[in-house]
Amino acid sequence: MRIGRWLQDHPRLLERAYRLHHWGFLKARGLLARIGYERVDRWIRGPEELGKRLVFDCRMCGQCVLHSTGMTCPMTCPKNLRNGPCGGVRSNGHCEVLPEMKCVWVEAFERSQRMPLYGKEMLQIQPPLNHQLEGSSSWVTLLAGRTDPPRGWLPTREGKDA
Ligand code: SF4
Repeated sequence: MRIGRWLQDHPRLLERAYRLHHWGFLKARGLLARIGYERVDRWIRGPEELGKRLVFDCRMCGQCVLHSTGMTCPMTCPKNLRNGPCGGVRSNGHCEVLPEMKCVWVEAFERSQRMPLYGKEMLQIQPPLNHQLEGSSSWVTLLAGRTDPPRGWLPTREGKDA
């Protein structure tokens, strides 16, 4: 989507929006915990998915790291790499698997250089993906403070184990 790419290429705007959302969700954390994370997840996962699909081509991994990856979704890498590029990046900066596509991690690095608030987080090592959280709201994952939950603590997409 053209508007999505434009926004991604202006990561400073996106990191400010992220910081505002982060602040708002943390302020509301007590209330949301009382409502119950399962219910909150049902309410916000749809709008979250819609917005992030339009802008970031989000795959709803449930453990969003956009602010640490130059506002570039690592799950759009054909190899789903979350800690930097593979060894196959072409000399023109394009993807080994999809030669017409610029490497997700080349874009992530370039954008992170224009992010004064979170750009340095590119250097952080991301934990392995917890596939049990796929399809759930990343905000709820963050608020609940867990990315490696015991089975059943969070709702997951229908048809999957909970
Ligand atoms: S990191 Fe996960 S939640 Fe964030 S945009 Fe990518 S797939 Fe979506």
